Amino acid sequence: MHCPFCRHPDSRVVDSRTSDDGSTIRRRRQCPHCNRRFTTVETASLSVVKRSGATEPFSREKIAGGVRKACQGRPVSEDDLALLAQKVEETLRSAGSAEIDAYEIGLAILGPLRELDEVAYLRFASVYQAFDSLEDFEAAITVLRAERDGTEDVDDTAEPVQPEDEAARTS
Ligand SMILES: [Zn+2]
Repeated sequence: MHCPFCRHPDSRVVDSRTSDDGSTIRRRRQCPHCNRRFTTVETASLSVVKRSGATEPFSREKIAGGVRKACQGRPVSEDDLALLAQKVEETLRSAGSAEIDAYEIGLAILGPLRELDEVAYLRFASVYQAFDSLEDFEAAITVLRAERDGTEDVDDTAEPVQPEDEAARTS
């Protein structure tokens, strides 16, 4: 890091501070040549690689925007969306890679969205995983129901799931 005053090519770090959300580090530096002090801010970059191969900076706003569409008419607030986008960013950053596939972002959204609202989750998953038949929805709902029954009280009014081998037996 060049000194911004005398262009000396070296500097000494006198203090480091991480921001509250952990995404940036501010460093107080001193130039050994002119002794003046200056501050640098380091940000760990996170880029999204789109299907076309182009990259763009990760944006929480884009995450919230994509999920917002799936949440239309659902009891999901803007705060919920902001929190979900934050969780997604934390998940992606914790993977430690500076570049992530757009596909991985969708994957990181599914978990927290399912906790937030199951209907919005199904809508999002149907687009993201390209559901093209009722069976795809059925399968996703079966998984949701099985996991819900595993963690919460069993809903007695729920229809039993038909066995999958019906078609195989008639052929
Ligand atoms: Zn200097």
